Amino acid sequence: MKRRDFLKTSVLATAALAGAPLAAEAKKEKPRVQAYRTMGKTGLKMSDISLGTGGLPSPSMVLRAIDRGINYMDTAPDYGSSEKYIGEAMKKIQRDKVIIATKFCTPYSYPNHLQQGSKKKEYITAVEESLMRMKTDYVDFCLVHAIGESSRNVENEKKRLLDEEMLFAADELKKAGKIRFLGISSHGPDNMEDLLLTAVTSGHYDLIMPSFNFMSFPRLPDVIKEAKKRGVAVVAMKTLAGAKGMDFDSKGQPFEPAAFKWVLNHSEVSGLVISIKTVSNLDLFLSASGQKFKASDRKILDRYVQRFGKEYCRTGCNQCESACPERVSIASILRYQMYFDDYGMEKTAMKHYTRLEAKAEKCTACANRSCTGACPYGLDVSALLRNAHDTLTFIA
Ligand code: SF4
Ligand code: SF4
Repeated sequence: MKRRDFLKTSVLATAALAGAPLAAEAKKEKPRVQAYRTMGKTGLKMSDISLGTGGLPSPSMVLRAIDRGINYMDTAPDYGSSEKYIGEAMKKIQRDKVIIATKFCTPYSYPNHLQQGSKKKEYITAVEESLMRMKTDYVDFCLVHAIGESSRNVENEKKRLLDEEMLFAADELKKAGKIRFLGISSHGPDNMEDLLLTAVTSGHYDLIMPSFNFMSFPRLPDVIKEAKKRGVAVVAMKTLAGAKGMDFDSKGQPFEPAAFKWVLNHSEVSGLVISIKTVSNLDLFLSASGQKFKASDRKILDRYVQRFGKEYCRTGCNQCESACPERVSIASILRYQMYFDDYGMEKTAMKHYTRLEAKAEKCTACANRSCTGACPYGLDVSALLRNAHDTLTFIA
């Protein structure tokens, strides 16, 4: 089936699932994917703007995205009902026309990525359960999830990304045709660049998925250059630098497409994933597909930095935690606060916070507040943490 025929089929499929209003919508000219980029040595081509499924609202959103030309979906067992919704949508999708990436996780509340010390059987079972939920025989990519998040010990995290049980499981799953390629994701807070570079140079990974945006991670460009040299695909996430949202500028230009164009201006990046929850999101986000990053985009981003530069925690930098005598998990807490404030994921953020060992309850009585002086970006870390503790704590 040719691409055009496939998309035509998917329009009909979408309309069948969602009803007549969608058919009317399909007649209008809507933004759609304009560029597909090669994913390193895998040879696959992904849509430059692709579907992140954290907070995915329904199966029909998957079909709408595909109908607009998106062909790459990033999911995980612990992203709510995301895998189940993809499974529903898969009934209407030609499997070999989409690329699916999931993670070695279990489907309980986030974060449930398999930890260092998990057995080969646990990795294999996790993938087989994902396949069942998504009603598919294989995933294109399976990712070791959130490297650098679960431990303060970089050596332990290095072990997790090179863990023999995981690598044996990946080999077995590949031989059985259940996964095609291995990947890894990270949004810090610990040593994101070093860990991803280890993954890239290890030869075991075909894809890295870093947090990457115009405000964070100054050493990441070197990592993605190395990835490109070695044929490792780069898929960017957390591209909106906190997704705080801004009013349109005086010329009526929105912020999000400018941020996406900045990411895609790096030729090492195959594409980016972004949570798409509404049709307006889809329209807005796809307006950046295939577009060049211009001086006017730079101005929008500069305005964002001016407005939010002292509020946005660059989670991968982690230059403050060693200054805290209590070893509070500063970067993770501020990321969860971002999920609460800016991602519309209040309950999830509170659940994440509950599971943290080093919460911010000690910040209220803390006299030295040395974390604030340690942040090179001028964040009032102590105040942000006290606010986060109030916001994220469940009241019995
Ligand atoms: S609070 Fe500042 S130093 Fe700490 S992780 Fe965030 S940006 Fe980095
Ligand atoms: S306020 Fe005190 S306890 Fe809280 S993170 Fe800062 S230094 Fe640590």
